[in-house]
Amino acid sequence: MANTGYNPFENAQAQFDGVAETIGLDQGMRDFLRQPMKEYHVSIPVKMDDGTTKTFKGFRIRHNDARGPGKGGIRFHPEETADTVRALSMWMTWKCAVADIPLGGGKGGIICDPREMSLGEQERLCRGYIRALYPNIGPFSDVPAPDVMTNNQHMLWMLDEYETLVGNARFPGMITGKPVGMGGSLGRTEATGYGVMYTLKELLRVMKIPVGDTTASFQGFGNVAEYAARMYTDLGGKVIAVSCWDNTDKTAYTFRNVNGCNIPELVSIKDKFGSIDKEKAKGLGYEVLPGDEWLKQDVDILAPCALENQITPAVFGNISQKVKIICEGANGPTTPDCDPLIKERGIVVLPDFLCNAGGVTCSYFEQVQCNINYFWDKSEVLEKLERKMTEAFQGVYNLAQEKNVYMRDAAYMIAIERVAHAVKLRGWVS
Ligand code: NAD
Repeated sequence: MANTGYNPFENAQAQFDGVAETIGLDQGMRDFLRQPMKEYHVSIPVKMDDGTTKTFKGFRIRHNDARGPGKGGIRFHPEETADTVRALSMWMTWKCAVADIPLGGGKGGIICDPREMSLGEQERLCRGYIRALYPNIGPFSDVPAPDVMTNNQHMLWMLDEYETLVGNARFPGMITGKPVGMGGSLGRTEATGYGVMYTLKELLRVMKIPVGDTTASFQGFGNVAEYAARMYTDLGGKVIAVSCWDNTDKTAYTFRNVNGCNIPELVSIKDKFGSIDKEKAKGLGYEVLPGDEWLKQDVDILAPCALENQITPAVFGNISQKVKIICEGANGPTTPDCDPLIKERGIVVLPDFLCNAGGVTCSYFEQVQCNINYFWDKSEVLEKLERKMTEAFQGVYNLAQEKNVYMRDAAYMIAIERVAHAVKLRGWVS
């Protein structure tokens, strides 16, 4: 999606191939796991408000469902590509496996820009996507969720269309990220960002660094970054900078306050797409700098929480010597060719599919609650989420220590072994 010259699917395959080699995975299993099991490419005609019909391209890709139904979000983005969706579906497989939830990997996307569409047009697009795909998704096959530029209203339109087509029943487990009161789980909105923080908190604990002694810089100020930054500052950390996209100027800006950003204040001046109003930010005393400045800050923690392919060898030299941790809230923010540089410098990486697994874990809780038709209170959801994320972190951290490997490699080892085991038990690959 991010146009950086890197292909996310090739990145995902390169990461997989490296670990498959290290753990000596047999060739038949490698061939099977290095690509998606199923792909659907659909064309969605949508009646626009001006009376014309526009056709949008959509994807749903299921990488692997050996451990349970496919699971993964749907993105709306003008630069969405099939390869991005392939990569994300593969990362979802590893994410569900490392978090040890009984789900597989899937992902969806539509090439569109909801910022330029009316709500009516967005609703018709959501319904059209489901009309094109409904036989291939569902509570027992592949369960979508929100992702970049999609929200709980989109999920509800999709659910409503699915139930209309399948007929005469309610299927709340067909999709997650629904509004609370309509089958949604309390805590889902916060879950990914909080999950990022539960793992970061654990990492700082084992590194014996008090959160209150640290500073951070975030890329992105959408769902993931907002809640991660909220919890981080509540725990005493100081956010020096956040960067986000400005759709009017078609560029990104970094908002900096070296004394510490006030996160609720910045939230109050952002729009629903996670863009901060730069005039209002200036008025509040923030410095407004170029978009890539977030990466150059003298902080302990860099938290890329926006897009893939942001930390590359081309920009690695801009990272301050002070940085100790890269906390990957986004999916695929670091390119595989940058990993050796990060290792060499001794920066600890909290790998994406561990770090941001809180969202899918809470989606799993949402499904469980829908299935039993009994909803937990928020503290119960968050307590279960923290326990799951902490256990996942400890599994990865302990293996990394034991084998003296990079945390990303340890996370891959755990995930690939779990998925390969399920594939073998099913007898798909002997
Ligand atoms: P979002 O749409 O809510 O926010 C995206 C943010 O990124 C916005 O603040 C936007 O302004 C910013 N952004 C876009 N382009 C930018 C650029 N070039 N430079 C700086 N900032 C830019 O999305 P989100 O849900 O917060 O997701 C962010 C990342 O986290 C994605 O990689 C997504 O796949 C991943 N993720 C999301 C969830 C979830 O539950 N939402 C779960 C797991 C992973």
